[in-house]
This record gives sequence, C-alpha cells and structure tokens, in this order.
Amino acid sequence: MKLEQEIAKRRTFGIISHPDAGKTTLTEKLLLFGGAIQKAGAVKSNKIKDHAKSDFMEIEKQRGISVATSVMGFDYEGIKINLLDTPGHQDFAEDTYRTLTAVDSVVMVIDCVKGVEIQTEKLMEVCRMRNTPVICFINKLDREGRDPYELLDEIEEKLNIKVRPLSWPISMGKTFKGVYSLYNKSLHLFEASRRQVEEGIEIEDINDTVLDDRIGEMDAAQLREDVELIEGVYPEFSIDHYLEGKVAPVFFGSAVNNFGVKELLDTFIKIAPTPKARETEERTIQPGEDKFSGFIFKIHANMDPKHRNRIAFLRVCSGKFERGRNYHHIRQDKNIRFSNATAFMAQDRETVDEAWPGDIVGIFDTGNLKIGDTLSEGEKGTFKGIPSFSPEIFKEVVNLDAMKSKQLEKGLYQLMEEGVAQLFTFEMGAKKVVGTVGALQFEVIQHRLKHEYGATCKFVSLNLYKACWIACQDKKKLDEFIKSKYRHIARDKDGKLVFMAESRAWLQMVQDNYPDIEYHFTSEF
Ligand code: GDP
Repeated sequence: MKLEQEIAKRRTFGIISHPDAGKTTLTEKLLLFGGAIQKAGAVKSNKIKDHAKSDFMEIEKQRGISVATSVMGFDYEGIKINLLDTPGHQDFAEDTYRTLTAVDSVVMVIDCVKGVEIQTEKLMEVCRMRNTPVICFINKLDREGRDPYELLDEIEEKLNIKVRPLSWPISMGKTFKGVYSLYNKSLHLFEASRRQVEEGIEIEDINDTVLDDRIGEMDAAQLREDVELIEGVYPEFSIDHYLEGKVAPVFFGSAVNNFGVKELLDTFIKIAPTPKARETEERTIQPGEDKFSGFIFKIHANMDPKHRNRIAFLRVCSGKFERGRNYHHIRQDKNIRFSNATAFMAQDRETVDEAWPGDIVGIFDTGNLKIGDTLSEGEKGTFKGIPSFSPEIFKEVVNLDAMKSKQLEKGLYQLMEEGVAQLFTFEMGAKKVVGTVGALQFEVIQHRLKHEYGATCKFVSLNLYKACWIACQDKKKLDEFIKSKYRHIARDKDGKLVFMAESRAWLQMVQDNYPDIEYHFTSEF
C-alpha cells in the first residue's frame, strides 16, 4: 500500500549539539551526500555570534536564515530524509526543545576536545522525555582530543545513557589514521578535506595483515587490542535498545574533512526509526492510519512586518496530507482549508500537493494556528508531548505608551503564540510577566513589538526562580494553596495555574509545607 511504502521510506531527525561542536558542518556534509546541495558553504550557520547580541540586523538575519534552513529534505539511497535544524544559540533553547518534539530520532554531535558540554546535557534531557533514539557523532578527530574511552565514559555518566561504539578511531590529531567500522568490519583511512569518499576496506578478520600494511604495525596492534576490549566490555549492539532510547551507538569522525560522515549516514538509514506512533489525549495514533493528523511545532513570523503572515510548521503524524483540503482545527473546533502549503527542500521551499507521515509542511497562516495545535481529518484528541518548559528569566512588561495598549496586548499575544517567550498573568493585579530561557529574547520582543506592532514597552527584572505548573487531586487543598499563595499565583497562556517561585530554597519550603500539591517544571504532566 502506498501509505505504508511512504512511511517506510521516511526518516525524520534533528542534529543537536553544544554550539561549535560542528552541527552546521555535519549538516552540510549530509546534504552533499544527499545531492541536495552542490557545494560546500551553502548551508549558513544559524548561529548568533555573541558580539551580535544587540545587533538587530543580525537577529533579523538570523530569523531569515533559520526559516530557510529549518527543515531540509533530501533523498539518499531511496530514503527520504527530513533533517530538522535546531538553533544553536542557547537563548533559543526553547525553540530547539519544541523542534525535538517533531523528530523521531537525533544525531548528537560532540567535540572530541571538549567532550560533553552543558547544552548537550540539557538537550539530552529533552530527548529522554520521549525516549528519542540518539546516535552520537564524536567530531574533530583531526584534533588532539580526549581519550576515546574517557569520552565514552563521560557520555554515559553525564548524559545518562549507555553507549555502544560502532566505529573506533585509529590514533587522533596529527597522527589520526582513520576509523575502523565495528558495524561493517571495514577500515576507513583518513584523508583531509575529502571530496570523494571511497568504500571502506573490508577486514573480516581483525588479525589480517592488510591492517598492518595500511596503518602500520604499531597502530594495527593497538587497534586489535582496542577492538578486543570493546567487544569484551560493551554488549553487542542492539537495534531494539537503540530504538527504545536506552543505548546510543557512537561514531567517530571529522565533519569538516568529510570523514566518517558517510559511514554515519549509511548506518543511520539502516537503523534510525521510521515515523513513530504518537499519543493524543485520547489514544495512540499509528502513522499508517488512513486519516490525516498532524501538529504544529513551530511558528515563524514572516520577515515582512507589513504583512502579518506567518509560517506554521506542521509535522504529519498519520495518513496523507493533501493541499487544498479541509482539515479540522481541534482547538478552534472548525475546519480550515490549506491551499497554501509548502514542502521544505534543502535550500528552497516548493509547493507540495501531498505529504506523508514524518514530513514537515509549511503552512501560511494569518493567525489561526499556534504551537501545539492539532489538525486532523475528524479525529478529536490533541497530540501530547509539546510542553512548555519553565523559563529561567522573568520580567514584568510595562507599557510605555498608554495610547498603544491594545497594540501591545495583541503583539505580545502573537509573539507568545509564535513561541518567542511565555507570558504569565498574575491573578493579583493582572501583572503581565514574560519568561524566557535567554536574555536575548527580551531584546527581540521589544524590537519586534515596536517595529511590527508600534508598541513601546520596557521590561522590569523580577526576582523569580521558576514557574511551576501546579495540580492537586483534592480541589479543596488546591484552593487553600491558591489562597495562601495568592500573590504568587499566575496563569499561563492556556489559563493553566502556575506557582511563581522566588527561589529554590523557598520552593523547597513550600513543597515541604504543601506536600499534596504537585509541582511541575513543564506544562504537560
Ligand atoms: P556548530 O556551532 O555546531 O554549528 O558548529 P560549526 O559546524 O559551525 O563548526 C564550528 C567550528 O568547528 C567551525 O570553525 C568548523 O570549521 C569547525 N569544525 C567542524 N568540524 C570540524 C572537524 O572535524 N575538525 C576541525 N578541526 N574543525 C571542525
């Protein structure tokens, strides 16, 4: 059946890393293999350099680039790969978290010199929420990095996931010779800046003297020792454990030299999951079901401030999406027709007539859609698993132009729907507080409110530690809690109750005093 075939062909994944580990470089090499781009340098880094923090042109440029490269579709060996880009800058971490809700697996890039870094750890936590399968690519082997065993231990320890090397480096840095693929039992010799990628040299028996001829006796002996150790220490690679998110296969390479990338890609298409089943509030929806369903995970404002068009990113979860058909918008309980849908290819967007599970479709929207919305062909339940995370920085919005309070309200509301930041409204005095992951967002919001909505505001820092979504089985106890903490109770954009904690210690105290209340750091629990 066509639907089953299309599903079997698709792999939708994201590349994540701490900034500078090599995500952009790896993306570009993957696209080169897919024939999606012709030359190196075509993929723009979506990075915001630190010095450009208050350079609005730079931020605007970033917005442009991130639309262009947010989703890159390409074909490789008969497989349709959808690569979702994630912003590297930590201030946009929330955007990355949400993008991860739309992928079926991830490739995590780790710099062999720096090892596991802070952003990698945070991203891994998000992957763990949905047991997303992870493949690690340890990059920059052409540099003197850390000992590979040490790196593997660090991944297991800091990322709390078992690892299983599927390739192994032969030396490193200046003396880097290449990698031995434990998966294919083949040797791949390193050569800087490779254009052509040769097939590996098959080495059925690790004691074969071909190895000595190619990499020298000393390195061959070391490799034999390493392979013996790895095969002894690590259990055999299990695809099932990988698919359950319990074990991460590890590859070594050098993205900038196009080394180890093809091996990664070849293994990826063999083991990475096809589009997965997804939970709605009501039931599990299988990708192979006839009826279309999907959800919005990202909204991007149009670059032209005069036209308030937005592009909503829809992940197809089941059935076939067809342009021009009416679909049900569950939150608004109405039917909408999508005559203007685009697919994302490597560098361009092109109109699509149909899309399949795993695909990402860009939909032009004039304000009907927001992040987390479900569209379907009649199905009622909303997809779960697109939570908001507690922000880390909180500021009160103060209107500076009384004549423009309507514009401010509208602008704030729309920017929040785009997911730029989160808005909390205090029960007492209706004080409006914007929460973000990074400081940069406040500048973006202020700038966009002024330029797109003509509203001026300032932000006043608040001493808040976390937003905790609260719940309680016992309504009376919840009411009591709200009453006693009234000054710290707010509502999020969906009207959910939030307790705004001022400090970690205070939160701990409140938790001890009110043990019946559930405290959550994400909006979905
Ligand atoms: P991102 O921030 O994760 O997207 O990282 P980039 O792909 O922009 O790479 C950061 C820097 O590392 C760039 O200067 C790259 O040229 C460099 N880089 C990427 N891969 C390698 C590699 O394999 N070896 C070395 N030596 N440098 C690399």
